[in-house]
Amino acid sequence: MLIVNDEQRLRAGIGSLSKRCQYCCKAEASYPLILSDDARLAVYHAACAVELATEIMVDLYTFLSPPAPYHQLFVLTPPGAAPAEVPAHPQAHEGAGE
Ligand SMILES: [Zn+2]
Repeated sequence: MLIVNDEQRLRAGIGSLSKRCQYCCKAEASYPLILSDDARLAVYHAACAVELATEIMVDLYTFLSPPAPYHQLFVLTPPGAAPAEVPAHPQAHEGAGE
């Protein structure tokens, strides 16, 4: 949830701007802020939330598309869609005639 003023901050249950950002541990100090939807009322500077989200997306990409020689652990496909073809041994196709 985006918080841009004192009224929104108070309604969200954040008593003051001295609460510390969960990412960089510095005081919130100014707006805009991002309030996490989880139960512990984690608050982030907007820039820190972007950095955290980017790190999570990068980690997720590695998780979903690991570098060789690791195999893909999970494949995300919509219900009813054909599963993606995953080449078992990409090097096996090198030098193969056409
Ligand atoms: Zn921060």
